[in-house]
Amino acid sequence: MATKKLKKSGPIWHPFTQHGLYPEMTKITHATGAYLYTEDGTRIIDAIASWWVITHAHGHPHIRAAIQTQSEHLDQVIFGGFTHEPAERAAQMLLEITSDGLDYVFFSDSGSTAVEVAVKMALGFWHNQGAAKRNKILALEEGYHGDTIGTMSLGAPSAFNAPYDPLLFDIDRIPSPGVDPQACLDMLEEKCRHEASDIAALIVEPLVQGAGGMLFYEPKILRQMREICALHDVLFIADEVMTGWGRTGKMFACDEADIVPDIACYAKGLTGGFLPLAATMCSEEIFNAHLSKDRAKTFFHSSSFTANPLACAAAVANLEIWEHEPVANRIASLNAQHQQRIEKLQQNPNFENARTKGTIAAVELKGAKTGYLAEIGPKLYDFFQEKNILMRPLGATIYILPPYCISPDDLDTVYDAIEEAGEEFAK
Ligand code: PLP
Repeated sequence: MATKKLKKSGPIWHPFTQHGLYPEMTKITHATGAYLYTEDGTRIIDAIASWWVITHAHGHPHIRAAIQTQSEHLDQVIFGGFTHEPAERAAQMLLEITSDGLDYVFFSDSGSTAVEVAVKMALGFWHNQGAAKRNKILALEEGYHGDTIGTMSLGAPSAFNAPYDPLLFDIDRIPSPGVDPQACLDMLEEKCRHEASDIAALIVEPLVQGAGGMLFYEPKILRQMREICALHDVLFIADEVMTGWGRTGKMFACDEADIVPDIACYAKGLTGGFLPLAATMCSEEIFNAHLSKDRAKTFFHSSSFTANPLACAAAVANLEIWEHEPVANRIASLNAQHQQRIEKLQQNPNFENARTKGTIAAVELKGAKTGYLAEIGPKLYDFFQEKNILMRPLGATIYILPPYCISPDDLDTVYDAIEEAGEEFAK
C-alpha cells in the first residue's frame, strides 16, 4: 500500500476551525484545575471551560477515580434490554436533583443528541395518541441547539447552517426573549392560541441563549413562556445543555424561574465535563404515551454508547461532588467577583451591555460589527491566546464561562485582558 503523504497540518479536520486561517493547532498535554498545559509547558487559563463542559475543575480527582474504578468492572454493554449500576445510580440521582414532573431519564452522548431525543419524544407523544398532526416545533430566534441536521433546523439561521438549509425542516420561530421579551411572549401566545392543534412543542434555552450571543432574559419571562405553553397543551422543552450544572447560578436555569419543563436536555457538565454523556428527562405522561404492548409505539432511538458505564460513573461522581463539596458557595463567590468587574466594565467607554448571570459574564466591544463571522472575533481570539487565556468570542461578544475552581487572581487576569482588548480594538 502506498504511504500517504501527510499534510503539513496533519490529517485531523478540527471542529469549527477554518484550517485556511488556522493551520496550526495548540497541542495540549495535560490539564488541571482551570489550566491547560501545552507541549512546551505554557500554562493557559481556560476561561471558557473548554467549550462550556468543565464545571468543577479539569481532572477533578473524585471523577477520575470513579472512572478508573469503573473501568476495572464494566467497560461497555448494550443498553437495549440490559442495565448496569452506574446508569441506575446516575438516573436515581438525576431524579433527586430535578423537580417532580421529570420522572424518566433517557441517556445519550452529546447535547445535540439530547435535543434530538427531546424532539423525537415530543413528536412520539402526540403521534402515539393519534394526534400526529401536532408535529410543528416552535423555537426561538437567536437559538442554538447543536450541529446535527435536526438541531440545526431548530437553531437560528446563520453561517453555521446556511449550506445545509435545503435539508433543514420547517419550524416556526418566536422572537428572542433576550432581544425583545414582550414580542416573544406576544408571538408565542398568538401561535399557541391559533395553531396549537398543529404544534408539538416549544424548545428554549432557558435564561441564556448561549451561542446566539450570550443573550440573557429574566426568569419571569421564562415562567410566562412556560405558562402559555401549559395553557395550550404545547410541550415545553428546556435545552439546559449550556445553562445546566450551575452556570446560571442555581443547579438548572429552570430552577431560577421555578418551572418544570415537560422535557429537559442535559449534557456538557453532567459528567463534570470529563466524558461525553447526555440525559433527556421527561414527564411520566410522555413515557406513558410510548408504553404499550404495541411494538410500533416503542421509542426508537439509540446510539452505540448509550449510557456508557464509564460516563455514567463519571456522572455519579459529579453528582457526589455537588452533594459533598461547597459548589454553591464557589458559584456565589465567582458571581460576586463577576458583579464587581462587570460594574467596572459598565463604566468603561470601550464596552457595551456588560452583564452577568451566575458564573457567566459577557460584554460587547463598542463599535465592532456583530455576528459570529465579524472580523473582530478571530482578532480577539488571537489577542487572548497571546496572553495565554483561552477565550472564543462570539464576534464582538466577549464572554467568560470558567470552571468554578478559577482563582480570583486568574479571573482578574482575564478581566484585565478584556479591558486591554477594549483599549486595543474598540472604536
Ligand atoms: N444545546 C445548547 C444550548 C448548546 O449550547 C449546545 C452546544 O454548545 C448544544 C445543544 C449541543 O451540544 P453538543 O455540542 O454537546 O452536541
